[in-house]
Amino acid sequence: MDEGAAASEHDEDVSHRQPEPEATSAGQAEVSNYEIVSHWFDQAAERLDLRDDLAAVLRSSYREVQVQIPVKQSDGRMHVYHGYRVQHNGARGPYKGGIRFHPDVDLDEVRALAELMTWKTAIAEIPFGGAKGGVNVDPAKLEPSELQNVARSFMDKVDKVLGPQRDIPAPDVGTNAQTMAWLMDEYGKLHGHTPACVTGKPLALEGSRGREAATGRGVVCMFSEAAPERGLDPSDCDFVVQGFGNVGSWIARILCERGARLIGCSDASGAIRSPKGIDVEALVGHVSENGALEGFDKHSETCSPDELLGIECDVLFPAALGGMIHRGNADTLRCKVLVEGANSPTTPNADEILTANGVHVVPDVMANAGGVIVSYFEWVQNLQHFRWEEDAVNHQLETIMRRAYREVSGKAHANGTPLRLAAYQLGIERVLDAARTRGYVS
Ligand code: NAD
Repeated sequence: MDEGAAASEHDEDVSHRQPEPEATSAGQAEVSNYEIVSHWFDQAAERLDLRDDLAAVLRSSYREVQVQIPVKQSDGRMHVYHGYRVQHNGARGPYKGGIRFHPDVDLDEVRALAELMTWKTAIAEIPFGGAKGGVNVDPAKLEPSELQNVARSFMDKVDKVLGPQRDIPAPDVGTNAQTMAWLMDEYGKLHGHTPACVTGKPLALEGSRGREAATGRGVVCMFSEAAPERGLDPSDCDFVVQGFGNVGSWIARILCERGARLIGCSDASGAIRSPKGIDVEALVGHVSENGALEGFDKHSETCSPDELLGIECDVLFPAALGGMIHRGNADTLRCKVLVEGANSPTTPNADEILTANGVHVVPDVMANAGGVIVSYFEWVQNLQHFRWEEDAVNHQLETIMRRAYREVSGKAHANGTPLRLAAYQLGIERVLDAARTRGYVS
């Protein structure tokens, strides 16, 4: 996709937008995550006046591994899944990034998410490069034992490019602490007990206190930094969450604890709304019992996913999949601030519409870095065989998130650009500096 090379996309007349295909039935735009990340990289590279040869090095992946994952199912038949690990750039440290289990996973998506991790770790200034992995499996359709076989078989095929000083996976969509435990155990069979080989592990297996809530906590921290710019008080605001998984449910729990009201929420099974506020703890209990939000009716009513996005609120948190806010629905949003918990939830055309409508967008590449920041703490703890208290984890997390917001925001103000462009510029500058200092590029 070439959405137009306009350098100042936020002041471009919206009528000049490039055509973007209609949304799919799942509500996602038919614009790939890779096209979204490439668009922002190109815009930032142009602003930085980056040489073409350097842009070519920074844009492409260092290594892309695709493997076959044959797994015997409980009906006795073999099923072949496809697994991917993409290492985008390791100039700043070992590769780091989650593993996604989702039927739509493909190389293009994993490549995009790996590149996003490179800029994210650089913006947060933690000593990692960027990577991502995935398997095109639908975890909801498998028994736990079958899922365990998929995780172990994936590790068997990619272990040689992983390791605590090479590349350290973590959870993402469709994977969780249990998946990380299986991956760590399988890696241990091949290389000896190595807890630092994955992060996001259960507490019983040297996971870090605070890791499960970290991405949501970081998103809330970013909102707390952005809120005063729009005259908002995070402890007294109305918010909507799209996607009630790990990230979305923790955003909701933490903000409600602080006094805010969750007035709309969705997951893959449907959406609900309540102007007086949804009982978040009851909803968390319902989802953990039933596996989905569907059927929850305590002081709330169902609505369509499109209606959910149109709810008037102070802040909207997309926390589901990429491309969910696109040209076809961006104009219906009625929020003052949008903080991206998900990766690439907003297409470039949608971003332009939101900016024109005065919505303050805090982009994924800075907003959802909390998970990888606490993964960094987990890795440090594993290497030291020492455990931090949760207060220390949360305090350090918030210090890093606040610093990142202020650095990006300072750059955005100085250059007169939106946060996203400033964030990409900062990330690219830091990676380029490391690559040059190593002598990898000149
Ligand atoms: P998860 O699997 O725990 O949750 C995903 C949620 O999205 C589920 O509730 C699912 O039902 C919902 N969903 C799926 N399709 C939907 C649809 N069409 N409409 C509404 N909801 C839908 O995943 P997660 O770990 O919470 O990740 C969510 C997003 O945050 C992803 O984009 C992921 O890449 C990003 N992210 C996650 C982390 C992390 O630490 N887990 C870190 C950074 C970014």
